[in-house]
Amino acid sequence: MASYTPMIQQYLSIKEQAKDAFLFFRLGDFYEMFFDDAIQASRELEITLTGREGGGENRIPMCGIPHHSAEGYIARLVEKGYKVAICEQVEDPSAAKGVVRREIIRFVTPGTVMETKSISEKANNFIVAVTVVDQSYGIAACDLTTGELYVTSFQAVMEQLTDEINVYRPAEIVGDESVLEQLRPAAAALNRQVLFTARAPMESGRLQGQFEAGELSGLAPARLRAIAVMTGYLEETQKRSLGHMSRIQAYEPNQYMVLDPFTRRNLELVETVHDRSKKGSLLWLLDRTRTSMGARLLRRWIDKPLLSKDGIDERLEAVDKLYHNFILREEVRSELHEIYDLERLVGRVAFGSANGRDMNALKTSLQHVPALAALCAGSDSTTMRRLASGIDNCADLASMIETVIVDDPPISVRDGGLIRSGYDSYLDQLREASVSGKKWLAELERQEREATGIKSLKIGYNKVFGYYLEVSKANIAMLPEGRYERKQTLANAERYVTPELKEKERLILEAEEKMVDLEYEKFVELREHLSAHLHRLQKLAATIATLDALQSLAAVSSEQRYVKPVITDGYDLIIEDGRHPVVEAVIEGAPFIANGTELTRDGSSMLLITGPNMAGKSTYMRQVALASIMAQIGCFVPAKRAQVPLIDRIFTRIGAADDLIGGQSTFMVEMKDIQTMTEKATSQSLVIIDELGRGTSTGEGMAIAQAVVEFVHHQVGCKALVSTHFHELAHLEETLPSLANACMAVQETGDNVTFLRKLVPGAASSSYGIYCAQLAGLPDSIIQRAYNLLEAHAEGDGSSRSSVNEKQAKRQEVNQAAAGQQEGSGSRSSAAAVSNATIKETAAAFDVSA
Ligand code: ADP
Repeated sequence: MASYTPMIQQYLSIKEQAKDAFLFFRLGDFYEMFFDDAIQASRELEITLTGREGGGENRIPMCGIPHHSAEGYIARLVEKGYKVAICEQVEDPSAAKGVVRREIIRFVTPGTVMETKSISEKANNFIVAVTVVDQSYGIAACDLTTGELYVTSFQAVMEQLTDEINVYRPAEIVGDESVLEQLRPAAAALNRQVLFTARAPMESGRLQGQFEAGELSGLAPARLRAIAVMTGYLEETQKRSLGHMSRIQAYEPNQYMVLDPFTRRNLELVETVHDRSKKGSLLWLLDRTRTSMGARLLRRWIDKPLLSKDGIDERLEAVDKLYHNFILREEVRSELHEIYDLERLVGRVAFGSANGRDMNALKTSLQHVPALAALCAGSDSTTMRRLASGIDNCADLASMIETVIVDDPPISVRDGGLIRSGYDSYLDQLREASVSGKKWLAELERQEREATGIKSLKIGYNKVFGYYLEVSKANIAMLPEGRYERKQTLANAERYVTPELKEKERLILEAEEKMVDLEYEKFVELREHLSAHLHRLQKLAATIATLDALQSLAAVSSEQRYVKPVITDGYDLIIEDGRHPVVEAVIEGAPFIANGTELTRDGSSMLLITGPNMAGKSTYMRQVALASIMAQIGCFVPAKRAQVPLIDRIFTRIGAADDLIGGQSTFMVEMKDIQTMTEKATSQSLVIIDELGRGTSTGEGMAIAQAVVEFVHHQVGCKALVSTHFHELAHLEETLPSLANACMAVQETGDNVTFLRKLVPGAASSSYGIYCAQLAGLPDSIIQRAYNLLEAHAEGDGSSRSSVNEKQAKRQEVNQAAAGQQEGSGSRSSAAAVSNATIKETAAAFDVSA
């Protein structure tokens, strides 16, 4: 080390504090990286790797980026899951003795990016802290951009930990090493890039200082530890006060419906399975919010459906009123449209990164609050009136900003031009001086032209020489002797100064410098003043977000003709003519076929659904789960009528997640999911299993499927929808009183099979696999051969040809039953009856052979 130059020595000692980060080392107008950082960064950022002498034996690898374009490069590294340490020059280079002093001023990490380029407006960017204390896991989740800080804890069960973490989709997790170690494989299973950092909690005396009085009292030890880890890590990385993170929102996991990560994915709540985009998800459908805060809150609602009837009814009440009052809804929507992202503006104020434009965005937003509050106060919704009565419209803050900041301030807060005249008299005087100085310069130019007779003589300014008089070479001879002092020679001109000009220049520049400094000072004063009121602004932002989420649910409910669900504390789930909200919204051409659901304690609580591929089984099962979720977030549901009990947990085992876990067989994954279900499901849960028992041999698969169905029936007693291709399981209906068979109706006409997408009682007798193969366009020879083999198998089985024919006959019978009126002949099935007319209509609509 000794042989390195002092600057490289300084670099190495700072790098010690940022071993796990790229060190962006400020050198003049560049951030430079050295050694391994340079080699890796040049690869990740595709920038040229160079080298420089640094006193050592070899040239030091180096690469650099201009500081003004650093944000984009930092964003790219952070998106790839790296940390970046920003090291600045912290003294004026001209005043420095020896090497300029440098310090890391901040770490940018995936969970703590504040820069808008890197984060989505409509989604939170959470960092999560996990801890374990006395057999309890603690979780804290913070969005640094908004200051939201949530905390909870529960008994140390790994699945629950991953479920809870998954709600936040963090890009970064910090905490106790022992917990992180267990979490790593889970993150890998979810295919998610997460940065893990082990960190000890902040010492408790300092922790008190971060929060408002009382916030920490009464927190369970695991929660307190999680908060302390989080706060410590944020302090270490951000190196500044985080005034907006002063309140803690503690909750119990059992306040919300539990949804494991796979269920969230399978049901495509916030992103699709296929390409992880929002488009095509439930969130995409329900998001008619007008503000980013509302969009983030709506997402949180979908992530955490409520388990309290009162809480749900309160939301439904407002949605109902907004649903039926189009004018009110539109007025609320148009006021909301004028409101910027208050939460993140507040975050920037607290962080010290808000500029003049942010201030004006804050002001404009606040100016729209009174109108919004009045609309809510005058509405016929109790929920909205309650929200309105809690609104503090922060008018004092808006008018303060109005008096301080000009209407159209520049982006920079360091170059002046942002404080309104009349706000500060000294600033006004300096401006006056600067303006009169400029006038004086113009006058000087005029006088000098007159005196010398040089029309092209002009006054200019540059940073090195200050103000000067410029005369073109051709005219130099016309200058009088002695009065002008030459300063700079250009190709075609000479530049001069006079003592008089220099004297004025000093005054003008001094005034300008003072002016810029004073403006900055006044701006910071304003920012600090607002910092003292962050809590008021945050509370207001939360209310606005709630109103926005409510109007969004109302808007979509009304557009899509949903109905208000009746929420009950009971058991029975009854949906009349239910639809799948997303499939309904995206299918083109044919209409969506509605299907009812009745899962009741006295009738059937379980449906065993058979039917060919593509018949609509999984769409149906998903629509039931989605209706529960929609109801429990306070949204209307796609149905003619719905009675929805509080569901504490939804389990889904649906094929789509198969691709998730590399290296594990589908069957093993299915069994693990089922294991979790057997352990966790209560009678208030909803279980959905698609294609139970596939992935192993027919005999075993069927045996396991039957055993699982019996377990859910006898031991759990919850509502369940199970689809299977084992038609042989249909006999279970006879022995399990709460189970009913149902199938997706299919109509056969000649050689054609038409999916009617109608759920009807009874079991399907054929899976039409070969027919599907035919539809997919397999060569005729294969299709014919398959039919022959099937027939031969049937014969080999001991089934005679006639039994194949018998099956054929039975199949037609079932479908005829489907097409005909359901007879009340003691069938316990709850599936909706379907009329001949509908069948014909839908048959026409779905004629796949067409
Ligand atoms: P399965 O699970 O039986 O293989 P799916 O539920 O995947 O079948 O449905 C196949 C396709 O049929 C879906 O992609 C959807 O477009 C369409 N579909 C399903 N249910 C309905 C319905 N009730 N009305 C109209 N189209 C439907």
